[in-house]
Amino acid sequence: MKSYRKELVFNTPTRRAIINITGSVQRAIDESGIKEGLALINAMHITASVFINDDESGLHHDYEVWLEKLAPEKPYSQYRHNGYEDNADAHMKRQIMGRESVVAVTDGKLDFGTWEQLFYYEFDGMRDKHVLIKIIGE
Ligand code: ZN
Repeated sequence: MKSYRKELVFNTPTRRAIINITGSVQRAIDESGIKEGLALINAMHITASVFINDDESGLHHDYEVWLEKLAPEKPYSQYRHNGYEDNADAHMKRQIMGRESVVAVTDGKLDFGTWEQLFYYEFDGMRDKHVLIKIIGE
């Protein structure tokens, strides 16, 4: 069995952002030479997510509105976690959207269902943040 590890780095100009990482993950699979196996892709921070869904701007806007209802960013004083930091909402949004995605690799390609794409969801950006890609197989 082969394995391959790679980190992606993001520094978004805004506090929150959604970035399609499908091409970057496919490049990592190409680099790995692995044809059959599994790819794990996870945010290496507790204020960011990796998820799979549609690359549709209306849906991405809807996520923003929905997450703001569940865990509003402001007022910062509503959260006990805030004090040194102001990112309690970011921890909660990450919890809802999840830490990682796992995708089957078949014939050297991400084996997606219809419309599935991989995204990095930043909830507390404007600094370097990392995503881990781990691919195992042969
Ligand atoms: Zn925090």
